[in-house]
Amino acid sequence: MTMDKAEKIILTGDRPTGRLHVGHYVGSLRRRVELQDSGEYKKTYIMIADAQALTDNIENPEKVRQNIIEVALDYISSGLDPEKSTLFIQSQIPELCELTFYYMDLVTVARLQRNPTVKNEIQMRNFEASIPVGFFTYPISQASDITAFKATTVPVGEDQLPMLEQAREIVHKFNTVYAPVLVEPSALLPDNDACRRLPGTDGKAKMRKSLGNCIYLADSPDEVKNKIMSMFTDPLHLQVSDPGHLEGNTVFTYLDAFCRKEHFERYLPDYSDLDELKAHYQRGGLGDVKVKKFLNNIMQETLEPIRARRKELEKDIPSVYEVLRKGSEAAREVAAQTLSEVKSAMKINYFEDAELIRMQSEKYDPGKIR
Ligand code: ATP
Ligand code: MG
Repeated sequence: MTMDKAEKIILTGDRPTGRLHVGHYVGSLRRRVELQDSGEYKKTYIMIADAQALTDNIENPEKVRQNIIEVALDYISSGLDPEKSTLFIQSQIPELCELTFYYMDLVTVARLQRNPTVKNEIQMRNFEASIPVGFFTYPISQASDITAFKATTVPVGEDQLPMLEQAREIVHKFNTVYAPVLVEPSALLPDNDACRRLPGTDGKAKMRKSLGNCIYLADSPDEVKNKIMSMFTDPLHLQVSDPGHLEGNTVFTYLDAFCRKEHFERYLPDYSDLDELKAHYQRGGLGDVKVKKFLNNIMQETLEPIRARRKELEKDIPSVYEVLRKGSEAAREVAAQTLSEVKSAMKINYFEDAELIRMQSEKYDPGKIR
């Protein structure tokens, strides 16, 4: 099905559990900015998922509260423009909770247990014996976030695919059982494999805030450099002359994610492109330090404009909160409209249904002319 440009709507977001890192940047943030600026989308909604963050940070509400502004600063400094995109805070839209409550009837416990991301996260957080119900059901709440805005397009990293799958199932079920009110969303993954799940600087499968293996967008130049210089590479590459391996070599994965041809002209003109650099590394004779310095140049170039914009924004924090307040108000109106359609479809709109009241009157007082 081809979709009219005017119908395409983006929704995506992040949990305020820490500042945003370069995994977020390549996995979703960079794409959002391009889509926002492309003019091909009717609306772009960007949500700070504080209610979701609370599902596994029950003991730590202050962390969630503090990180709202951090995420908002990272958003705007990365190029999300409040004039073009609606930036809002999840908990300020109570309609989302109401949707979640109704969608819960459409999902079985067994289906949630099968969700690979939920499985994985339960393991990671040692929740096996004590999963908070709210955490367990967060895929349903994520379906509410997406469908409340009738989003067609959700730019995310690979770990979110099972969530999108579950949201699509909920939409399908709702539209079949009640009425075709909801829109089936599609995930939009980065084209480049390295960007779909950027590993941590420690070589672990995923850079993530809760693992502390991140390069943050707001890190200082020195912090970025130190993290890159101590990054995990190839443990078998002991001498410069040894042949190196690319498999699982984090520095090369980052180059896959960040490096463009013009970076060679600027910082490493002895090589014409990444394939040539990789081939030399595999042959032997190319040291890790040289490759890391190249990566550092690229990362500094990428992060510098973001850092500079952040410095400016940090001078006026109240206006950033104001952006979020206005965005939350605007988002709430849209969610309320969807909720009203959902309630009509579910036949729980008693007071707006003149026909229902007329029919009930007729039942109890037949023949009365009204
Ligand atoms: P937490 O540890 O709290 O879950 P997180 O670092 O996983 O934090 P999220 O807020 O859960 O970050 O993810 C926000 C978005 O960024 C999602 O679309 C997710 O797919 C994407 N993302 C997160 N980490 C990466 C990564 N390392 N590579 C690519 N995309 C990522
Ligand atoms: Mg996550």
